[in-house]
Amino acid sequence: MIEREQIEMDVVFVGAGPANLAAALHLKNQIKVHNDLIDRGLPGHKVGDLEIAIVEKGPFVGAHILSGAVMDPIAIRELMPDFLEQGCPVDTVVTDDEAWYLTDTKSITAPITPPPLKNKGKYIISLSKMCEWLGEKCEEAGINIFPDFPATEVLYNDANQVIGIRTGDKGIGKDGERKPNFEPGVDLLAKITVLGEGSRGSLAKQLMSRLGLMEDKEPQVFSLGVKELWELPAGNFPEGKVVHTLGFPSDTETYGGGWLYGMKNNVLSIGYVTGLDYKDPMIDPHAEFQKFKTHPEVAKILAGGKMIKYGAKSINTGGYWTMPKLYADGVMLVGDSASFLNGQRIKGIHTAMKSGMLAADTIILAFASNDFTSETLHHYHESVRMSWIHDELFPVRNFHAAFQRGRWSALVNSGLQYITGGLAWGFMPHEYHVAGHRRMEQIDGSASPAVTGGAVDRKQTGDGRESQAADAGSSSVGPFYHLNHAERYEDLKFDKQLTFDKITDVYHAGVSHDEDQPSHLHVLDTEICATRCTEEYGNPCQRFCPAAVYEMEANPQTGRRELKVNFSNCVHCKTCDIADPYQIINWVPPEGGGGPNYKGM
Ligand code: SF4
Repeated sequence: MIEREQIEMDVVFVGAGPANLAAALHLKNQIKVHNDLIDRGLPGHKVGDLEIAIVEKGPFVGAHILSGAVMDPIAIRELMPDFLEQGCPVDTVVTDDEAWYLTDTKSITAPITPPPLKNKGKYIISLSKMCEWLGEKCEEAGINIFPDFPATEVLYNDANQVIGIRTGDKGIGKDGERKPNFEPGVDLLAKITVLGEGSRGSLAKQLMSRLGLMEDKEPQVFSLGVKELWELPAGNFPEGKVVHTLGFPSDTETYGGGWLYGMKNNVLSIGYVTGLDYKDPMIDPHAEFQKFKTHPEVAKILAGGKMIKYGAKSINTGGYWTMPKLYADGVMLVGDSASFLNGQRIKGIHTAMKSGMLAADTIILAFASNDFTSETLHHYHESVRMSWIHDELFPVRNFHAAFQRGRWSALVNSGLQYITGGLAWGFMPHEYHVAGHRRMEQIDGSASPAVTGGAVDRKQTGDGRESQAADAGSSSVGPFYHLNHAERYEDLKFDKQLTFDKITDVYHAGVSHDEDQPSHLHVLDTEICATRCTEEYGNPCQRFCPAAVYEMEANPQTGRRELKVNFSNCVHCKTCDIADPYQIINWVPPEGGGGPNYKGM
């Protein structure tokens, strides 16, 4: 039994991303506002000076933060109306935006940029820099930030109420034994814990499963964004220009698209998003991105330039129907952990920040009434519903679902949804399930399992992960598409000028992990890798991981191909935890500080 230090806080935020940083800062600011109002006669109780902590697994705020990114400033303006005067490190104002359709050799510019992709007046930013700056603002406001502190467990009391988090032990060797520098993790106890870990948060996953927060929700849908920063020769791409692309190299069955954002000093943010609900297990999202750069129009822009940074990150693209229940006793979910991203606009920073600020308002209510249960925390859900987040996300609630039948129906549906405020034909799984369920109730007084089968699966599986796997399994088990890896990418060569292999890219992600620690990638049954997965999917982990972590290697004794996990390459994108068809990979936070270094990305 390990003796652990217990530290009592009032509020603990897990993850120093935009949602939690905005939440903590707003909380500090609004306590003053609330107490002033009480002084002026508003009925209610004052809130004392709260002890607030933000725990972050990276070595500094921003180290593990990655996004495109074009930010809609609506939320930061609410948080800090003078954010520019206060030195917010926005890179460039968007002055021009275009949407390109890429054929194999040509690019066709849309005569009118679709309204959701209009970005003029918004800001191109490095989200890592922005979070670093917000972290400084938090510290100036008296908020405790603990970098190098990966939260590994949610703590509950006997009534299943969340009472804080446990951080990971440090100083355990790869053999599982304690090293001389062993330090047990600490228990941070809090009246309210806020999870803002980003996409596929490891504590959020535990919480959703244990408390059933995904009941009656659609399973989450993810994409993987792969990004590089390039220094270009002057004149190759204008500062302030934003381009989004559709088409090459994705096939019409696969959700995907590229971006090019012109930053200051001839730096270009370039990246490609691939939907992780792809059907062909031979797809490699990193290779899709490398192929994207070989398109003549894109290669022309990159000519003579130099790649300076690399990163990859999963993105919640499911939207409104895939949002979990946002609260439970003692806990709230914010930002990407709660699926606040607007997939149609490819934007989530503003909604993440706003969700954090709304959570902070509810925290004040909770402390003013000394009640930290769902009774009070449900106000967070209500305030989200009453806010512009709902107004923005509800009309695009069926956006991703429309891609289930490929690119062309998605384009038609996106247009219809834009006109009708979210309605379209035939591709609205949640509305369909609800409507189907109601129809069956009307017919025979009970819902048929055949009609509600998907929903039953989801109820049984809690966080939706297993049902996604089941869905993926049922659609993908059996023969692959006709493509194989060599054919799909046969023209792709890594010349280390325009295109890079995964290992070279990982080097540019600045990844480091202490090698003498247990792997943070728990593969629960490696026998499946060597048998069923080889036969049924061709071991897709070797392709979907953008950092060459997984390799099937011949065992020198037996000659049998077995899984090798190069965990120290991991860029913490969480794709393996999401996309493994058997759901036997569990990503857990490594020892404090390990991971990529996205400073300035
Ligand atoms: Fe991403 Fe998993 Fe690969 Fe790490 S091991 S880079 S989390 S896919």
